[in-house]
Amino acid sequence: MNQGIEEHLRVALEQQRAAFASETFPTLAVRRDRLARVRQMTEKHAQDLAAAIAQDFENRARQETLLTEVFTVQSAVRHAISHLPGWMKTRRVPTAMHFWPARNRLLRQPLGVVGVVSPWNYPYYLAMAPALAALAAGNRVLIKPSELTPATSELMARMVREHFAPEEMQVIVGDADVGRAFTSLPFDHLFFTGSTAVGRIVAQAAAKNLTPVTLELGGKSPALVDRSADIGVTAERLAFGKLLNAGQTCVAPDYVLAPREMVAPLVDAVLGRVRAMYPTLAHNPDYTSIVSPRHHARLQGLLDDAKAKGARLVPTHTEAPGGRKLVPHLVLDVTEQMTVMQEEIFGPLLPIVAYDKPEEALAYIQRHDRPLALYWFGRDAAAQRHAMEQTHAGGVTVNDCIWHLGQEEQPFGGVGASGIGSYHGEWGFRTFSKEKPIFEQTRFAGTKLFYPPYGATFDRMIGMLKKIAG
Ligand code: NAD
Repeated sequence: MNQGIEEHLRVALEQQRAAFASETFPTLAVRRDRLARVRQMTEKHAQDLAAAIAQDFENRARQETLLTEVFTVQSAVRHAISHLPGWMKTRRVPTAMHFWPARNRLLRQPLGVVGVVSPWNYPYYLAMAPALAALAAGNRVLIKPSELTPATSELMARMVREHFAPEEMQVIVGDADVGRAFTSLPFDHLFFTGSTAVGRIVAQAAAKNLTPVTLELGGKSPALVDRSADIGVTAERLAFGKLLNAGQTCVAPDYVLAPREMVAPLVDAVLGRVRAMYPTLAHNPDYTSIVSPRHHARLQGLLDDAKAKGARLVPTHTEAPGGRKLVPHLVLDVTEQMTVMQEEIFGPLLPIVAYDKPEEALAYIQRHDRPLALYWFGRDAAAQRHAMEQTHAGGVTVNDCIWHLGQEEQPFGGVGASGIGSYHGEWGFRTFSKEKPIFEQTRFAGTKLFYPPYGATFDRMIGMLKKIAG
């Protein structure tokens, strides 16, 4: 770890701290202007982003980048700009009668300097979505993007340099060592998106400074197919959710739990839908490559391990896709001893686990780490309600995959091993604000009646309070 980068990080933080100290409560106009600049730079560089991400991945469809990185950021900006006046308002909150005429209120105040550490899978959206929420809440932002998407990280650094002063928002590129130095800085809040393993390390680094953290982590997100589900619709939506970005999506359905008698028709239906969406793989620009040779080898290793332990592998295509593309596979007859059922897959492999009774499927989910997402397919409302009450997950989409992530009116975040805290819309604004309770006393206050020397007045007052509390 070279000293230059540590010094650069320290200076960047101090510069932002000083700037924040001179503007501790940015006006609505200032915040809207910063958000508008996020919108402008995203608009201006949309095609550059698609090209850079395609270069980093070897291949990623331009359309996927426009939907999952450009549109998502633009819609979050639009939502924040229009709701900011309401979010920034000081809240009047009730005051217990015995404190009258004093009054309570709640001030939503920016925290200061926020650090954002982001992963490679949606390199622009996952850096910019937390960053824009932090800006909306009036903070300064330092971003450390992933080293696995160097072209995108460099582009993002240039875009931010062109549109923001370094004391407003800055991108610092670098690898895990830079990440370590970055996360040891005494930020006012640290927002980390990445793996559960690194999340643990980041939480420990932040704890040394008592820096509050939001951890947006991963995990194995199940898709639970109820007996009442429509097989065709379920198969199509699973195929899309699994193969978007070739499965390298934090909320991709990791594996499927399906009633035993529905497994065979579901396999046929998924194969049919995948082939309809991706008639070929090799020269198909719609089908994304695996981000690195190491990740490609890891996924191949999951297949080899499953096969060696008795799984049945069903490839969706027979062709050799070339480069770092990986043929999607359904993985049947899996057991918990297989690595594919232990690690987050993060690629185009879909294990299907058969169950006989719905309680078995629910018990399977409950026995494992709480996932980032849960998908439930079916039409039986009582079964759906039961599944929702019996399981924990960061978020749920019913009868589809992925789309709960696109909701600005709902919080997005994990639970247990899949994360701590949440963002999106007003939840992001609150994550990056101190909600400061203010109790304003009046000139003549009843609280004086509790002062010493204690005697009859105090006894009468405490008697009255007892009745109020009683
Ligand atoms: P990762 O944890 O390997 O890396 C994430 C970031 O942390 C990178 O910028 C990296 O440089 C940095 N980093 C690595 N080691 C570090 C350390 N010791 N200290 C500080 N920083 C360090 O994750 P990844 O491989 O980039 O992303 C994939 C993971 O992210 C998957 O588990 C996925 O589920 C998860 N993810 C979660 C969400 C979500 O919203 N919850 C979104 C996308 C991805």
